[in-house]
Amino acid sequence: MSLRETKCPICNGTLWVDSSTLKIVDHRPADHQKASLEQFLKDSKQDKAWDEKMKKARENEARRKAEIEEKFKKAAKEGAGQPGGLPGEFGPNINWD
Ligand SMILES: [Zn+2]
Repeated sequence: MSLRETKCPICNGTLWVDSSTLKIVDHRPADHQKASLEQFLKDSKQDKAWDEKMKKARENEARRKAEIEEKFKKAAKEGAGQPGGLPGEFGPNINWD
């Protein structure tokens, strides 16, 4: 498995892609990173709301992951045979080396 780190084209977070299968291995959304400690403490005081929020976040995350994966596959397909790997919208963002 060849793992590549790149910038997520959707949320500008960090994306780890298996470059042989084009599967998203991991995804760290930028908006999650920005969540403040203050907000975290506020949320964690309300356990039920927190659970609900985490559940929603996980669902959103899964959806987003699938969405990015789809984009990657499409980009790879369109760029098949081109030197340098993924073309198009992923091209400028990807620093394979
Ligand atoms: Zn993202």
